[in-house]
Order: sequence, then structure tokens, then C-alpha cells
Amino acid sequence: MQKMGDFGGIWHKFGKKAVVVCIVLAVCTSVYNLGEKVYNDRQVLGYNFVVALDAGHGGIDGGVTGVNTGVKESKINLQITLLLKEFFEQGGFKVVLTRSDDNGLYGVPSAGFKKRDMQKRLQTIRDAKANLVLSIHCNKFSSSQRSGPQVFFGDEVGMAFAQRVQTVLNDFTNNTHSALRGDYFMLKCTSSPSIIVECGFLSNPEDEAKLCDKNYQKQLAEQIYRGALLYLYGGQG
Ligand SMILES: [Zn+2]
Repeated sequence: MQKMGDFGGIWHKFGKKAVVVCIVLAVCTSVYNLGEKVYNDRQVLGYNFVVALDAGHGGIDGGVTGVNTGVKESKINLQITLLLKEFFEQGGFKVVLTRSDDNGLYGVPSAGFKKRDMQKRLQTIRDAKANLVLSIHCNKFSSSQRSGPQVFFGDEVGMAFAQRVQTVLNDFTNNTHSALRGDYFMLKCTSSPSIIVECGFLSNPEDEAKLCDKNYQKQLAEQIYRGALLYLYGGQG
């Protein structure tokens, strides 16, 4: 009883103030949550945020080719990159492309073209002060069994980004690949998070058929975009 009495006294003393404090806290919390929602909805991050999209290969460098159709990786890379560009731009991001057509970036197709091509990509990414870099490729393996998207990162900065995108792509394609560290030029162009997305294996007939399909390309681009958003904004799923 004594305790009840104490409690009653405390309530009498602080009760009204406590209620007022709780109401103020509740209002502040909901305003904060609303602010956060608006922030996320508008994707404020996007306004000054530059995403560099690099469609691998191009011109005389077609990359790997499809096992059934002979389709060039360079063509599929560009198609997926352009779809990815739409998703990022719709989200309010500034997008810079290293290449926007079928041509390579080496100028004259003479000796040393590959090095010149890669230097041009590096320059574009650095000039744009890219905050995020995604290089889009297709894979090839000696065994036609291997399939599914594979994401690479170069350092700790890119690792979380790569893992996030890999998880989303695994869910999408029902695979269990792990994001892998890779010693690739495109992962060293900037200190910003950079990944290479190998969208699938052109040495695998099923992957090849899917990668040539416009609808699949769009779905894949959407999933890559979703993975990037989850990395940037956090959150589950
Ligand atoms: Zn490639």
C-alpha cells in the first residue's frame, strides 16, 4: 500500500508532465518518421548522386559470345545498361555512361586499342566524380552447366555493395553464388563503391536465351537497381 501511495504521489507530481512529454515525443517521432518517409520517397540522395554505368566491351571487342546464337556480350551489356539507366534516372539519380552505342572507346582500332578503351572508361568515371560504379558484363565458363549472375568487387568499399546486389540477383534467379573479390581494372577507377555484374553465362543455353530476351533484361536491370537501392538506403529484402 505504501508503494502504491508512493506511486500515486509520483503520478500526482509528474503525471501531467509525463503525459505532456509523451505526447510531444510521439508527435516528434511521427514528424521524424514522416520526414524520413519523404526523404526515402524522394530519394534525396539521388539529386547530387552520380551513378556511372559501364557497358563492357564494344566495337571490335565483342566480349564473349552466346553458345547457341553467337550473340555478342557487348550487345547484351549495352541493352541491360540502357535499361538500368532508365531505372536510376526514374529514381532521380544522375547517370553517366561510359558508352551509349555499339562502338568501342579506343578511337582507331589499332594496336593497344583495349588499353585506350579502358583508359577512356576510367576518365569518364573520374570526370563524372561517380559515387557508384556498375560495370555490366556477361560471363563464360568451360562447363555449360554453370549459370546465374555473378557479382565482383575489388575492395572492402565495394564488398557490401556487391554482396547486396548478389543476394538480390540470387533470389531473382534462384542461385546461391557468393559475391567474389576480383582484380579487375574497372573496380579500381575510383575510390567509390564499384562492382562488376556478370549478368549470366553465355556458355549456358538457358542463361543465353534469357539474356537475349527483352523482358528478362528489364527484370534483371530492375533487380540490379533494387540491389543498389537496398545498399544505399539499407533495409531488408
Ligand atoms: Zn565481359
